[in-house]
Amino acid sequence: SPPSGAPRPRLTFLGTGYLGATYAICFAELGYEVIGFDVDEAKIAKLAAGSVPFHEPGLDELLRRNLAAGRLRFSTSYQETAEFGDVHFICVGTPQRADGMGADLSYVETAVTGLAPHLSRKALIVGKSTVPVGTAEWVEQLVGKHSPADLGIEVAWSPEFLQEGFAVEDVLRPNRIVVGVKSEWANGMLYAAHKGVFDLAATEDREVPLVVTDFATAELVKVAANAFLATKISFINAMAEVCEVAGGDVTQLSRAIGYDPRIGNRFLQAGLGFGGACLPKDIRAFQARAQELGAGEALRFLHEVDLINLRRRTRVLTLAAELLDRRVGPAGPDLSGTRIAVLGATFKPNTDDVRDAPSLAVAAMLAKAGADVHLYDPEGNENARRTLPDLSYETSMNAAVQDSDLVCVLTEWADFRNADPVALGEIVGGRRVIDGRNCLDSTLWTGAGWDYRGMGRP
Ligand code: NAD
Repeated sequence: SPPSGAPRPRLTFLGTGYLGATYAICFAELGYEVIGFDVDEAKIAKLAAGSVPFHEPGLDELLRRNLAAGRLRFSTSYQETAEFGDVHFICVGTPQRADGMGADLSYVETAVTGLAPHLSRKALIVGKSTVPVGTAEWVEQLVGKHSPADLGIEVAWSPEFLQEGFAVEDVLRPNRIVVGVKSEWANGMLYAAHKGVFDLAATEDREVPLVVTDFATAELVKVAANAFLATKISFINAMAEVCEVAGGDVTQLSRAIGYDPRIGNRFLQAGLGFGGACLPKDIRAFQARAQELGAGEALRFLHEVDLINLRRRTRVLTLAAELLDRRVGPAGPDLSGTRIAVLGATFKPNTDDVRDAPSLAVAAMLAKAGADVHLYDPEGNENARRTLPDLSYETSMNAAVQDSDLVCVLTEWADFRNADPVALGEIVGGRRVIDGRNCLDSTLWTGAGWDYRGMGRP
């Protein structure tokens, strides 16, 4: 820990997307002086004006409060950011490379080489983005090359586990903090940079475990956690596939095995599978990196995890053809002449993030099969329209469902879970529903005259 009485370090967050903006705002809330930096001028202007550029529950209010308190600023200037900060967190995107597998580290490189030359005193650069193992060492070399020689700038890695939709809570009250460091100084700085989190926990009589590791372990913790979660979801979806041919009900199966504390019931719901900006790209990048390091075989199962996940999307298409009594040819089903309501565009509820969303992938498949797709999402319509401009976007659930031959519930928003099947039954063209998330009360829907199909259910 830092010497007692040491001032709190000033923090900067480079990249103010879902991760960086949430951090900048929440750490200001914890009492730190913060700059959020991004190369996207429109995004920075929006944040500086008190408006969060994406949907995350609770974040708007915290942003406005901390701007007003003067603890939080936003900038597009590397120089201002470099001069301000003692600890600089790299929170830029690390998307899937165009070649399909590995991670694109060009944003990390630009952020680090943009910042480093402007540093004018000793500081710590901390990677938070999800990266292939070995990246922190490379960043350390970049920093050595691009920062003024005599400052002794250090690097650390602290992977991030926040979940969109719960991001504020996850940042203020994380279930652990992991730091990969090489020196006592870096360790002390990182402790000081997180002291607000530890102090909050103490006032609430909680503890936040701190795991201090080397660089490689810190980088691996993140991808290992995501690989495990993806595997758990694909495991139960594989059981759903078996239930579908054997006549079992995966929702009962999942409940029954989940009572075993060694298995646990969280992340064990069968449905349309995982998506979003993290799990799919992270498990692919992890495999690619393991291959490069000569451990490809160890992660071969992740390829199956990916395939099981993608097969769930095709399953919805098959169910649609079955319910609508359409022939399935070699090129898939022909759904022309049908009107299908798709409820949900985001990869999960309580976000507007549609990156690699299973729901949107299915909507695209339905449209490609000839269906007239009418989509509604409480928060994701705008982002979905940018990805798939040719679908019809509706401003309410009722408008989407109106006159449809089939309703597909593909994201488990509370509005959809709590929808009244009797009322909806009166406005549809045909009472057919696919519950892609097993989130509806099947008895209620069947009772209201709907032909119901879930995932992995009889
Ligand atoms: P995002 O796309 O929402 O945000 C990335 C931001 O970085 C964008 O605003 C972009 O303009 C900015 N950027 C690009 N180049 C820059 C530069 N040179 N300097 C400063 N900013 C720059 O991405 P995200 O969802 O926030 O994810 C960021 C990283 O965090 C990724 O590695 C991701 O895997 C990881 N992560 C994300 C989550 C999550 O739930 N979103 C959770 C854990 C980890």
